[in-house]
Amino acid sequence: MGPQGVGKGTQAAKLAEHYSIPAISTGDIFRFNLKNMTELGKEAGAFIEKGELVPDELTNRIVEDRLGQDDAAQGWILDGFPRNASQVTALDAMLEKLGVSLDAVVALDADRSVLMDRMEKRAQIEGRSDDTPEVIAKRLDVYATETEPLLASYEQRGKLVRVNGVGDIEEIAQAIVTALESR
Ligand code: AMP
Repeated sequence: MGPQGVGKGTQAAKLAEHYSIPAISTGDIFRFNLKNMTELGKEAGAFIEKGELVPDELTNRIVEDRLGQDDAAQGWILDGFPRNASQVTALDAMLEKLGVSLDAVVALDADRSVLMDRMEKRAQIEGRSDDTPEVIAKRLDVYATETEPLLASYEQRGKLVRVNGVGDIEEIAQAIVTALESR
């Protein structure tokens, strides 16, 4: 978990490679569907373009489907989910149904100014339509109000691992693995 621009996607991919498990990014799934103009893409598109959360019902469904696929049987890393309290409840129910539990929740953090900077650079490179300054600011606000409070609940459950998201990509990846394995 972490605010937009903190490097969640990059680090999730590295962790997935390290542990040979899939990284499941709800943002990537939505973007793929948006690009291919699927029904899901059409439904989610308007929310993504505004920097708002896609409705839980839709989001939870795609996560549940994805966690049930064969390549997810040996573990996975969720990137960008859960993002609000109701998604936490939904995830708890999915995990119970699957008979698995979370090992850890990795929280990456960085200052807002670093995040704004990184996302503006990413916008130039990737051309993501939700990387305009207004939408970036909106997404950071949504993170602060809806997602950040969830960290406290995972901390209470003893699942939270906090790692600084500022610095060299490889060093951050190493810090995450070290933190996970020293628990
Ligand atoms: P991301 O790539 O994780 O920043 O996600 C891009 C956009 O996809 C977000 O701004 C939301 O509009 C949507 N999205 C991704 N994950 C979720 C989620 N868990 N719940 C609701 N919307 C999501």
